[in-house]
Amino acid sequence: MAQVSLRHISKVYGGNIKAVSDVTLGIENKEFVVLVGPSGCGKSTTLRMIAGLEEISEGEIYIGDKLVNDVPAKDRDIAMVFQNYALYPHMTVYENMAFGLRLRKYSKAEIDQRVKEAAQMLGIARYLTRRPKELSGGERQRVAVGRAIVRKPLVFLFDEPLSNLDAKMRVQMRTEINKLHTRLQSTMIYVTHDQVEAMTMGNRIVVMKDGIVHQVADPISLYDKPVNKFVAGFIGSPPMNFLMGRIVKTDGKLSFDEGTFRVKLVDDMIPKVASYEGKEVTFGIRPEDIYDKLFVQEAPPENTVTARVDVVEPMGSEVYLHMATPKHTFIARVGGHDKPEVNRDIDMVFDMSKIHFFDKDTEKAIV
Ligand code: ADP
Repeated sequence: MAQVSLRHISKVYGGNIKAVSDVTLGIENKEFVVLVGPSGCGKSTTLRMIAGLEEISEGEIYIGDKLVNDVPAKDRDIAMVFQNYALYPHMTVYENMAFGLRLRKYSKAEIDQRVKEAAQMLGIARYLTRRPKELSGGERQRVAVGRAIVRKPLVFLFDEPLSNLDAKMRVQMRTEINKLHTRLQSTMIYVTHDQVEAMTMGNRIVVMKDGIVHQVADPISLYDKPVNKFVAGFIGSPPMNFLMGRIVKTDGKLSFDEGTFRVKLVDDMIPKVASYEGKEVTFGIRPEDIYDKLFVQEAPPENTVTARVDVVEPMGSEVYLHMATPKHTFIARVGGHDKPEVNRDIDMVFDMSKIHFFDKDTEKAIV
């Protein structure tokens, strides 16, 4: 069993740089957990503390049921894959993959079997006699993954392993690492700044900012129920639209008043929002929850917003419409054939059952 448990972990560099603050996280056996957040949020430091490459300032880390705070990296039974591959340039692919096993005094036959099996799995069997400089970036990263696999570690740690690859190769390797997880059934902890990578790879995602964990959830819960404005804006592309305004009551019904338009709240949101009546809030709506009225069969007038088309961005199967009201801009993600004229006002329909509200001061989710 290889569950990993972080208990109130903190990391302070040089006495005053708090890189990680009081992180508590349980990672189940065989789980694929992704740590995601903007640059500098403390995700690599967290991973490096699990690996034993960074001292822990406070808290405890368990791998399985063993407290590993004082266990050196080489004795932790983990294998790490780095962004820059960290291959030995003078060794062949075979030697690179075999190196860790040789150090651990495995027999030649065992090493040979493990290296060949991993190379087969990763489609690099024909490169075993080449040196790293004779390989593409994607192939080098496969070797780095292979070197981790041959160790058969309890836990795999990945630190931005795909960041140096071009966009197409990144997508391909993403799928391959997913398949590898299914095949190996190992515990994997993966660090990335890329929310798409996080969403497509993780069983669970840990969203970090400023050394703090903001939310831990499966991808769909994270997308549908972000706990605050930061998570809501970080997960999703194009990002959620945020509009400032007020909750107001008209004809006995609660609406959101942006200043230049009003949209009516659906009944089941009212209990949560009622205490904000008369107050300023941040309204959030995802681009795919905004429709061009022309393509909507029944559009309630109280959900319709008139806005100017600023930019039309065709993406193939869909189109991003950059829209503007006199006070705000927002993006709508509409069907591929919807190409309205630029600089004209058109009517857009907000799906009010999908909206979010955030407290203006705390930025916590209200709905
Ligand atoms: P991320 O991986 O999310 O980009 P890091 O974990 O690398 O972030 O860094 C978190 C914070 O700690 C950053 O503010 C970074 O500048 C700081 N930091 C990282 N490593 C060191 C170090 N060796 N000495 C001092 N500060 C560091």
